[in-house]
Amino acid sequence: MSNQSTVVALKVDVDTYAGTRDGVPRLVELLGRFGIRATFYFSLGPDNSGKVIKRIFKKGFLRKMFRTGAPSAYGLRTMLYGTILPPPYIAERLPDVIFGVEQSGHEVGIHCWDHVKWHDYLPWLPKQAALMELGRASAAFEDIFGRRARTTAAPGWTVTPDSLEIQDAMGLFFCSDSRGTHPFYPVMEGRRFTTLQIPTTWPTLDEILGENGITLDTINDHYLSLIKPGLNVHTIHAELEGNAYTETFTRLLERLIDKGVRFATLGEAAQEYADAAPDCELQMSYTGGRAMPVAIQGG
Ligand SMILES: [Zn+2]
Repeated sequence: MSNQSTVVALKVDVDTYAGTRDGVPRLVELLGRFGIRATFYFSLGPDNSGKVIKRIFKKGFLRKMFRTGAPSAYGLRTMLYGTILPPPYIAERLPDVIFGVEQSGHEVGIHCWDHVKWHDYLPWLPKQAALMELGRASAAFEDIFGRRARTTAAPGWTVTPDSLEIQDAMGLFFCSDSRGTHPFYPVMEGRRFTTLQIPTTWPTLDEILGENGITLDTINDHYLSLIKPGLNVHTIHAELEGNAYTETFTRLLERLIDKGVRFATLGEAAQEYADAAPDCELQMSYTGGRAMPVAIQGG
C-alpha cells in the first residue's frame, strides 16, 4: 500500500441489538458482493438504547433525530430497550452473527460493552468503571473469537485520558476513537499514549444528511468530493447504512470502485502507517451535525 495511492477504509460501528441482528448480515452480504473487506466494531453488552431518549433534552439531538429519521431507522423496540423493555445482551444473544463477520473475511474489534453508558457518561466515570466496561467487552469478545481483540473504537468518538490509558494497557495494535486527517499517536492533557490512532476522516451520514442542502441524491457527490490521496476512513453504522440507507451506500461503493480507489481494513492501514505516524494533540470538542463532543485530532 503506497501512501500516494487513494485508499478507503470502511469502519462499521454496530451500536444496537437490532443493528447486529439485521444490519450486520446485510452489510456483510453487500460488502461480499463487491469483494470489500471492512473493520466491524461490536457493542457486546446490554442494548440500553431507550435511555438515549434522555438526550432529547440536549441541544440539537431532536433535530438530528428527525433529520435522519432515527425513529424509523432504529425501530420502536430499540427505542424502548433499557427503559420499559429490559436491555438485550448482544454478544450473548447473537454470538453466531458476530463470529460470522470474521468468518466472512472482515476484521473485528470492540466498540464497547454498554454503548449508551460510554457515550453519555464516560467523562464522569471513575477509571475503575471505564476499566470494567472494556474488561467486560474484552471477555465477551474472547468468548466468541477465542482470542483477545487487537482493536477498539470508542462509542461516539468519546475518550478520556483514562480510557486511552486502559487501551494502552490492553496491548491493542491500534484504536479508532477519533476524528482527524491521518494516523497518529495521541497526546491528551499533556499525556502521550502508545496505541496508534486511525482517525475517521469523513463525516458520518447522519452528520451531513439534511445539512447544507445535502440530500440522499447528493450525499455521495459530497463524499466523492472529500476523497484525498492517502488514507480515507469512512465510519458507517449497521443501523443506518445497514438498514434504511443501504441503497445509498451501495451507490457510494459503486462510485468509489469506478473511481479506482483501493479498499483496506483499518488493520492494514495501521500496518502501513504505524512507523511514520506523528504525535498529535487529541481533545474533545464539537463538530458539525453532532450534539455531543468528539475526540478531534489537532496539530
Ligand atoms: Zn457507536
